[in-house]
Amino acid sequence: MRAILTPAACLAACLAAPAARAWEDIPDAYPQSVLYAKPVEVIPGVFSSIGATAPPTYENAGHNNNLSFIVTGDGVVVVNSGASYLLAKALHDEIKALTDQPVRLVINENGQGHAMLGNNYWIEQGVPILAHVEAAEEFADTMGQALQALQRYARENAEGTVPMLPTETFEDRKVIEMGEFTIEVLHLGPAHSPGDTQVWLPEQSLMIAGDIAFHERMPPIFEGTCTSCWIETWETKLVPLNPTYVIPGHGHPTNLAQVTRYTHDYLVHLRDQIGKHIAAGGDLAGAYYVDQEAYRHLDTFEELATKNAGVVFAEMEFE
Ligand SMILES: [Zn+2]
Repeated sequence: MRAILTPAACLAACLAAPAARAWEDIPDAYPQSVLYAKPVEVIPGVFSSIGATAPPTYENAGHNNNLSFIVTGDGVVVVNSGASYLLAKALHDEIKALTDQPVRLVINENGQGHAMLGNNYWIEQGVPILAHVEAAEEFADTMGQALQALQRYARENAEGTVPMLPTETFEDRKVIEMGEFTIEVLHLGPAHSPGDTQVWLPEQSLMIAGDIAFHERMPPIFEGTCTSCWIETWETKLVPLNPTYVIPGHGHPTNLAQVTRYTHDYLVHLRDQIGKHIAAGGDLAGAYYVDQEAYRHLDTFEELATKNAGVVFAEMEFE
């Protein structure tokens, strides 16, 4: 029988519940592993090891994004090789504990370090790695810096990591039939960074969205990111697919309404604020302080809010 809590007891118990705490404040949720958290089964056959909703640190070993895999019945498809050789290996250890099916493909969600730096582990296992052609180009340009950053924060957990490009690329769409799953590997359009990739399971109505979609933490906006394109890709390409379940690039699995609120709606809000600031003759120095209060509760707000405002000002100044 379930105990009935008085409101006061519930308040204390509920506040103490780990799920209620921001993951930014928990240094490592799975100390036995270099992974930040043990993989959870989101829907039957689809697992995700949810990263810290925080910047990469020594404690989280750079596991601050979601590393997912699909156990298809005839092999496993992994989404993201993670930020290092050791993270890729740790994810593989979890997969081997769950199934005898071999990993047959790895997909990189974009060209960032935490999507691709573990590639050399999988190449060593003889597993092909698929990424969008622009993500591969991006990583070819930035892999040296990405490795240096990893070595700086992760120290001994960077051991074994050698940046390697994906072994295969695609342009618009690639459909994979494996076991009981139809897996559509998509590039819906420009969004967060070059070659953003979405893994769409139409029969299960689940999208492993990559960094087009954020949850529980503030999305980062990079120099050169076209925020109006990100919004357009969202509205015209992502929304029509209408996924029931979304595993975002960062943050716990959720639904379309929630990632819309914290990604699309945030971008629209910030562009609206910056647009008004520009219309009133405001400059860059003032742009950093436009109102973003509705998003203050998100993890990484402190690190990203003013930075994002500055980048969007530079983008919109000449629109
Ligand atoms: Zn990311």
